[in-house]
Amino acid sequence: SAGTLSGTVALVTGASSGIGAATGRELARQGAAVALVARRKDRLERLVGEIEADGGRAIALAADLTEQEQAIGAVERAVAELGRLDTVVNNAGVMLLGPILDAPTSEWDRMISLNLQGLLYVSHAALPHLVAAAETGPRQVADLVNISSVAGRRALSMSGIYNLTKFGVNAFTEALRQEITTRHVRVSVVEPGAVTTELTDHLRPEIRENARSAFAGVEILVAEDIADGVAYIVTRPRRVAINELLIRPTEQI
Ligand code: NDP
Repeated sequence: SAGTLSGTVALVTGASSGIGAATGRELARQGAAVALVARRKDRLERLVGEIEADGGRAIALAADLTEQEQAIGAVERAVAELGRLDTVVNNAGVMLLGPILDAPTSEWDRMISLNLQGLLYVSHAALPHLVAAAETGPRQVADLVNISSVAGRRALSMSGIYNLTKFGVNAFTEALRQEITTRHVRVSVVEPGAVTTELTDHLRPEIRENARSAFAGVEILVAEDIADGVAYIVTRPRRVAINELLIRPTEQI
């Protein structure tokens, strides 16, 4: 298809629902061939079908990104099947809120192993391909976009370890940006406020009620609002780097 991203290849993690699915759909609409990564293969295959029905190109890659071998495998299969890698969106993440005192520490492990380690594994595997794409690709520029959160900028009670992971994503993004931006690999962070997705489905019931009632009466974002922001970042001309994008619902304080 003849979009701005024609001839490029994008990989989106956490593409089986929410922000990742919307981003995969949008990048395909802009002309990228898209590798969709998550654990639920049936959901990924359904999205591949939708993208193909719209005239786009996509493949489904099932992987648990908390396992480094699987993260590497997903990146290498994307390159093998689609030929190159110009854009990576590190979106897969979990948010398990609650007080630190007496917390089930298995929740901390899940957040750290996906939001931090999974993101690092994918980034490390993808970077050589992004450098190559910036040198030889159709757009002479490549993009690594990390989905952080408002929680990457402001710490709040009940959000300590989620804050820790997202502050970490922001710090990693800025350090990597300084290392690699002169090679035309742009490194960006997107910080959504509240978006309707499956993210809060994984909270303990009493905590889920609190999290949802905090936004009672607020018109919250839809996943496509964030996908729009990602598309904006990766379709800028080669000289323009959108380093950071903070996207809140208008009514969110
Ligand atoms: P969803 O729960 O809808 O999506 C999370 C995605 O991550 C799913 O596709 C899930 O797929 C995938 N995932 C979970 N565990 C793994 C794993 N081990 N390996 C690979 N993929 C995995 O939530 P959102 O769309 O809301 O979340 C996307 C990102 O946006 C997250 O990083 C989140 O922190 C961030 N964010 C969300 C906000 C919101 O209000 N919704 C606000 C701010 C930031 P599967 O289960 O199939 O593996």
